[in-house]
Formats: sequence, C-alpha cells, structure tokens
Amino acid sequence: MNLISTETTSQLAYFKKHSSGATPFCMPISSPNPGPHVVIVGGTHGNEPGGVKAIVELHRAFGSGKVRLNQGKISFLLGNPNAYQKDIRYVDYDLNRHFNKREASSVEGRRALEIKRFLKDNDDIEALLDLHSVSIGDFRLLVYTKDDTDKIEFAMTVSAIPLHFVFHPEHMPGTLIEAASTHGICGLIVECGNHYAAQAVETARHHILKFLIHHHLIDDDYISPETAPAKITFYESIQAITPHTGFRFSIKDIKTGTKLSKGQKFAADDHGDHVAPQDCYVVVPSRVVKATDADAGFLGKRSVWEGDALLWAR
Ligand SMILES: [Zn+2]
Repeated sequence: MNLISTETTSQLAYFKKHSSGATPFCMPISSPNPGPHVVIVGGTHGNEPGGVKAIVELHRAFGSGKVRLNQGKISFLLGNPNAYQKDIRYVDYDLNRHFNKREASSVEGRRALEIKRFLKDNDDIEALLDLHSVSIGDFRLLVYTKDDTDKIEFAMTVSAIPLHFVFHPEHMPGTLIEAASTHGICGLIVECGNHYAAQAVETARHHILKFLIHHHLIDDDYISPETAPAKITFYESIQAITPHTGFRFSIKDIKTGTKLSKGQKFAADDHGDHVAPQDCYVVVPSRVVKATDADAGFLGKRSVWEGDALLWAR
C-alpha cells in the first residue's frame, strides 16, 4: 500500500496550482497597499508536514476572505517538494544544510539554487519564517543564529515558546535562514513539535499568524493574546554531532535536554565513539541518521533566563 497520503498529493497540487512567478512551488499573495514582503516556508524537510498543512489552510483562508491581507506581500514556499512528495527528509542531501553549496547535480542542489535566486531577486523581503518539526519527542523550539541580541528579542516577540536553540553558523552551515541573512533578511526557524503530532499544524498556523501580525500584514485579532513565558531555556551550540556510517546513539531515550558529563560516551559509528567534550546537553537529536547527514543533532550549553534577565532582553 502506498502510504503517501492523498492529502500530500492534494497539497502538492494546491501549491502547483497557486504558484506564480519564477520560483516553482512559491505562492505569492499581494495587497495593493505597499508594505513588507515576508516569506513563510514549510517542508524544507520533506517529512515535516505540519508547516505545509498550515500554509495551505491559511492560503485558502486568504482566498476565501476569512483572513485579510492589509498591506504588503507574502510568499508561501514549499521548501523541498521532491522530498515532500516522498515523505522523506531529503532526496540527495539535507536541503537545510545545502544553501552554502553551488551545484545543480542533485535534487537539493537545484532547489537551493532556485530558492537563493528567489531571495536575491526579491530585494524587498524583510523576514522569513521556516517551519519545521522534530523526529524525537514533541519539542517546540525556536532556532536561530547566534549573531546579535536583536534576534532573541525578535524571537520572543513572535513566539511564546520557552525553549530556544541558538546556533553558531559554523556548527550548522548551509541553513536557509543563514542564506536569507546574507540578503539582510531576518530569519527564524520554529520547530513546531513532533513530525506526527496533530498539534504541530496548530503551532505552525499560530506562528504564521503571529509573524504576519508582527509585520503588520494582518489585523492582530486573528489570535488571542498570550502571556510571555516567565522563564526561557536557551541551548547554545558547542558543536554538531557529526555522524559516519553505522551511527547510533548509545544512550536510551536520548532527547533534547539529555545531560552529558565530560568524557561520557553517547554515540558510536564506524569511526569510533562519540564522547562529550565537556559537560553539556544534547539538542535536537535525529531518530534516523544516514551517512549523508551533516549532523545527527548538536551538543549545547544551557542557560536559563528569568526575571530581570528576560525583562532586559525584551
Ligand atoms: Zn526540519
């Protein structure tokens, strides 16, 4: 039996039908009133359907007049349509680690070129939201690059998720938000929960609306106000967990937040054991790891902000 759902097929058909312009699988919506151009991306990893579902649902709501665009432009982008069609993370290479490559001989190489062309040609884009989900656990996280504190403030403005993963680009090179940042576009990744959690679609939908409200594209009454978290836990990347053939985690139930002591073995592959270089935490480990994966997750240090520290960040 073919488990690729008719829902997936109809979402792909929907994207195809409503796409216009030079970029395949990109659905633009414009208001006659000038304003910011923002990009909403789902399915950068093909096995993460929540963002794509939320995008199609919301695009329909714009079409029917249920949601009204007051100004500006939204481009809804299906990140990796080939992988989405197959319900796999990627076909040849992880698209979200491939934006620093320049090659047209792989599926993701060609898609990265198309999307980079799109970012370059649309010099009015202000911000980009990249919707993802996780393979282990049902974690919701905000993910962004460690560059300046403005990013933290931005993340806190558009989301009440109390778990942030701040990564150094050298630990996760080639991401879409990094490619966007080279064009001065403010990018944010939201991990909306588990790939298969129904709630992930709702989290994606909520964050798209918050993102659009933040940029004054739609009225602010499409979602109810929410309380800012009293405490935020930050993980900051120390290094990627770089897998080789035969990679497997050796800790049972490893997940975001699993604590490792310096020298502790946590995984192994054909090149030997993976050992924690210092006391640290595991962040977004992957359930299935292939030799072509750039990383199997990350090691990070943790800090918790509450009270005055958070007020300052706001
Ligand atoms: Zn993802």
